[in-house]
Amino acid sequence: MTTKTPILPGATLGILGGGQLGRMFTTAAQTMGYKVIMLEPDVNSPAGIIADQHICAKYTDETALAQLAEHCDAITTEFENIPATVLSYLEAKTVVHPSSKALSSTQNRLVEKAFIESLGINVAPYAPIRNMADIDAIAESFQFPAIIKAASFGYDGKGQSVCNSADDVRTAFTALKKVECVLEQRINLEREISTVLARSQSGEITHFPVAENVHVNGILHSTTVPSSAPEQQIQRAIEMADKIADGLAYVGTMAVEFFISTEGDILANEIAPRPHNSGHFTLDACQTSQFEQQVRMLCGLPSGNCELVTPVVMINLLGDIWGNSQPHWDTLLSQPQNKLHLYGKKEARPGRKMGHFNTLAATTEQANEIAQQTFKDLKAN
Ligand code: ATP
Ligand code: MG
Repeated sequence: MTTKTPILPGATLGILGGGQLGRMFTTAAQTMGYKVIMLEPDVNSPAGIIADQHICAKYTDETALAQLAEHCDAITTEFENIPATVLSYLEAKTVVHPSSKALSSTQNRLVEKAFIESLGINVAPYAPIRNMADIDAIAESFQFPAIIKAASFGYDGKGQSVCNSADDVRTAFTALKKVECVLEQRINLEREISTVLARSQSGEITHFPVAENVHVNGILHSTTVPSSAPEQQIQRAIEMADKIADGLAYVGTMAVEFFISTEGDILANEIAPRPHNSGHFTLDACQTSQFEQQVRMLCGLPSGNCELVTPVVMINLLGDIWGNSQPHWDTLLSQPQNKLHLYGKKEARPGRKMGHFNTLAATTEQANEIAQQTFKDLKAN
């Protein structure tokens, strides 16, 4: 369903998924005076502990979905792997953004790449791998090194490995239990950037400043804004991201990740149909955060101002920095330019995103210096 009248504070919003993105959406919505009902199967989730109501059930549970639809004026998601059938069911009953159609174009890497290419946007050279014969077929021609990725359900570099030969691909494909995969040429990266944008029901697009990202072991480590990328690359990335948002008829906050190769090529890596980790800097450094913008788009409100207020460096806090005790929060907080965000997760595991911090300073160089020092001093013994 669509609505022409804005959904105003006092109304109830629903969210599918209770992770940190759902939590930060919930905080933004509650701050603006909305109630939030969340559907999430995990009893202890970052968003569940703050939502006005937590329906603890599977995303496919029809009773739970009926309850959510009945009580919510609009529903969104924090997670792209919600079955598209779930969103179609909800769409018939209430306002839902992003749409099941937009989500289904981004759930499978092969479908996503074909969609991006159909818009005339380049991606890293790739081949679908569905069986051993597919590997034989590309063995001679594929340019290694490459990265094999499971086509569905990957995040934070999970379900990925580097391959230097067709034999490596065979081994990795077998280890991945022969699920549908994509083999991507490994690009020599000059840098990685991402565009976080929000598109309204009438197709108006607002852009947060382009972010420059550093990944470690396939997981985002840091984001710096403004990016040091040449203005021309930044403009190209924005144009491509707009094309993708329009092509999906997307409503809400979304992100597109880009590779910039050492040859200067700009290749779309992937689409996130939701707020994105590389947009967490907006929480403290922009006039409007990516989560407030998600609320505004969902409710049919005018967009907030995306302008950058101050240069910023965001660093992710993974479970790795927890030792036998908590990291040294006192050190982090003794630096007045640091803004700490923890997600309320009980158990710290290596690679698990537990929180992040934003360092605000007059220049990105200064922000980076403080952020790196803070990060070094943080690790528990
Ligand atoms: P997320 O959804 O959390 O961003 P993901 O599991 O979908 O992660 P990708 O975005 O595919 O992972 O890859 C994670 C990172 O690994 C990239 O940001 C990049 O640093 C590196 N990487 C992935 N594919 C390639 C490639 N083809 N060439 C060079 N580097 C790559
Ligand atoms: Mg990615």
